[in-house]
Amino acid sequence: MWPRCPLHGDHPLDIEPEPGEDPHWVCEKDAVAIAALGGLGTDRPPNEGAVEDV
Ligand SMILES: [Zn+2]
Repeated sequence: MWPRCPLHGDHPLDIEPEPGEDPHWVCEKDAVAIAALGGLGTDRPPNEGAVEDV
């Protein structure tokens, strides 16, 4: 299923396919990229500090 936003936790992440680039998970609230598609859940996210579990 759609992963929840690690920054807010109250909304799902969105996929933003950029032409010429790899698609990535983005937070539609802050408009920031969370992780590359396929890089979420399988490995540690690139910005591990932002997804710290409370
Ligand atoms: Zn968010």
